[in-house]
Amino acid sequence: MLSLLLRKLKMGRLTEKDGNLLSSQKSSKLPSSFTKSLQIRHLDCGSCNGCDWELTAIGNSLYDHQHFGIDFVASPRHADLLMCTGPGSTQLLYAAHETYEAMPKPKWVVAVGDCAINGGVFKGAYASAEGIGNVLPVDIKIPGCPPSPDNIMKALLEVMGKS
Ligand code: SF4
Repeated sequence: MLSLLLRKLKMGRLTEKDGNLLSSQKSSKLPSSFTKSLQIRHLDCGSCNGCDWELTAIGNSLYDHQHFGIDFVASPRHADLLMCTGPGSTQLLYAAHETYEAMPKPKWVVAVGDCAINGGVFKGAYASAEGIGNVLPVDIKIPGCPPSPDNIMKALLEVMGKS
């Protein structure tokens, strides 16, 4: 976390001002191994891709998620954490369930962005689950439309006990 702050001081603020914070966290503690390494499976559950682009941004040289032991994996079998973007469109719910079931325990679910939290701009749409929490057990919410990479990193580091 300190190096992230130092880097930010050096390079200046490159993202929008934040107002959103990690809003809830699983009460159970992460296994100690997770504090060193966190493997994420990202699933687009019907997003506009805005949140997905911000997730991509945490890999750039400013945020450098790999430097903190955070990485994205291709298979849910290797994932500790499922990151969902989008409101949960009907066509993707089966895939979301299958992905969650394929993950080894213990596992966490993160709703990234307002759509994943409560439907966001897709609230009331006929094919929207109005939040991934209605179909999967969400542990952590990162609000924003979209949330800034800064806040996504803060949330992940908080989960790892590094903030
Ligand atoms: S929260 Fe905003 S940026 Fe993210 S998927 Fe929904 S509309 Fe797009």
